[in-house]
Amino acid sequence: MLTFENFDLSNNILSAIKELGFENPTPIQEKTIPHLLNTKIDLVGLAQTGTGKTAAFGLPILQQINHHVKHTQCIILSPTRELCMQITKDMENFAKFLPDVRITAVYGGASIENQIRDLKKGAHIVAGTPGRVLDLIKRSVLKIDKIQFLVLDEADEMLHMGFKEDMDLILETTPTEKQTLLFSATMPAEIRKIAETYMHNPVEISVGQKNSGAENVEHFYYLVNAKNRYLALKRIADVNPDIYGIVFCRTRRETQEVADKLIQDGYNADALHGDLSQAQRDHVMNRFRSKHLQILVATDVAARGIDVTELTHIINYNLPDEREVYIHRSGRTGRAGKKGESVSIIHSKELHKIREIEKILKKSISKRDVPGGQEICHKQLLSMIDRIETIETIDNQIEEFLPHIYKKLEWLSREDLIKRFVSIEFNRFLKYYKNAPDLNIIEKSRGESSDKFAQKGNYKFTKFFLTIGEKDNLTKIKLMEIINNTDTLAGAEIGKIDIFKGYTFFEIDSKLESETLKAFNNKRYMGKRLKIEVKTGERKPRTDDRKPRSDDKKSWSGDRRPKSGEQRSSGKSSGGFKPYRKKRD
Ligand code: AMP
Repeated sequence: MLTFENFDLSNNILSAIKELGFENPTPIQEKTIPHLLNTKIDLVGLAQTGTGKTAAFGLPILQQINHHVKHTQCIILSPTRELCMQITKDMENFAKFLPDVRITAVYGGASIENQIRDLKKGAHIVAGTPGRVLDLIKRSVLKIDKIQFLVLDEADEMLHMGFKEDMDLILETTPTEKQTLLFSATMPAEIRKIAETYMHNPVEISVGQKNSGAENVEHFYYLVNAKNRYLALKRIADVNPDIYGIVFCRTRRETQEVADKLIQDGYNADALHGDLSQAQRDHVMNRFRSKHLQILVATDVAARGIDVTELTHIINYNLPDEREVYIHRSGRTGRAGKKGESVSIIHSKELHKIREIEKILKKSISKRDVPGGQEICHKQLLSMIDRIETIETIDNQIEEFLPHIYKKLEWLSREDLIKRFVSIEFNRFLKYYKNAPDLNIIEKSRGESSDKFAQKGNYKFTKFFLTIGEKDNLTKIKLMEIINNTDTLAGAEIGKIDIFKGYTFFEIDSKLESETLKAFNNKRYMGKRLKIEVKTGERKPRTDDRKPRSDDKKSWSGDRRPKSGEQRSSGKSSGGFKPYRKKRD
């Protein structure tokens, strides 16, 4: 197998890529590196991100930079700020042992003054977005008369993003004797036109239509009720304790909501979408790149240009409308020889979309069961044990505390100690998943069997009647919050909720009937004492907003007004739900 030593690369460059852990060149590198080292012929490369094309053009260009002169010798154009920064970072890594080579990034949305200052210091290689590069050329800050290399990276994406005019102007202005390299994932007519107009008999190389990582990506879907999408997402994250992935959402709003919920639930997640300022986006991206952030929730547009290897998961919180977008999303994992998973959380009406995607993917997407509490707890436990085994202890700093710790814990046996250490982190999982319902949909619903027990999917629900409703400001979300904030009910499967003016019907997993009665009966909600009953017999809720009829009234009558001296609700997020406390006297 070919190695980088087979190319005529300098030792400084070879050492840098060795440090990066590159062992064998990728197919595009095999073809491009010798071409650029040995010829001045223009090159068109059909290749997607993830194929290793930055090193393919970056290494031979770096080798040919003359650092004894100050002028700019290479310009790399790319469609987004993120990609531009990524290229700059990659090039800096490749140039680790070439300290005199200066590389600068210039892009829109950031202070042009700082970029002008950087350029004035001298930049041998400039990576930039077309708009900003053109602006700097027009200001005569970026001098291009002596460039030897012009790289158009993700040329098709630059056209999509409306940079055609800027690209034309740049291409027209640069000297003719340079070597032009054009990389593109697709080859539409406009790209061909650019190649014909501005390039001289370019050699065309292709590393195949598929992303090089596509073979390393496995595809799965989880079938759940639409309302359980978020719960399924949490389980996917929980069953993969070392997850490092992107969750794709459809809208900016949904992206923010999902990220907010994940953060609230204690996950190491954040959002990336167009409503954030550039500074906020940079901050999130830096955290994600440096792996300080495990889960990035993003829209397709915002995620464009993110080029992070080693992603373990792509999660389609919603399937995209266009099948190609799915391919693009999933191609972000399984790169550079690593394995990855692309998973989709879908409901039964979306199954046909999965079949459509399979057709262009030319791979099957298999159904996977949403993991249950047992499986998740097992995985989490194993991961924790692994961490205990591999954690680096800072002996010299911990030593002085050890005698005190040993003394304090000496009464505990080895087994007890282990149990307690593990419980510190593990208890919350055990607690959360104690009543965890099965989220998987059994495709054929068996229908409701009685009024008391509704059966949906593989659930048997009990229907309850509760003496508060709309006029008490109860909403479905508040009711679900109350249920989830109650220890004995947290995570319970909730069925249908019907909120009327003064009362509510809701369904909950039948296994939790007595816990539900206990959790609600005689508790206070916004100062009002509650009554709850299992709803039996034939009684249709009225569809109007009037009070229930007198026969209904019997079942929900009770203390409806707060008694003086009794505690009022705090109005916290759980809807002001408080345990009922009896008056002292
Ligand atoms: P690119 O297509 O240039 O964005 O590269 C995708 C990722 O693959 C980058 O993060 C590179 O660091 C990594 N990479 C590039 N070439 C190699 C190689 N020969 N061996 C291992 N990883 C590589």
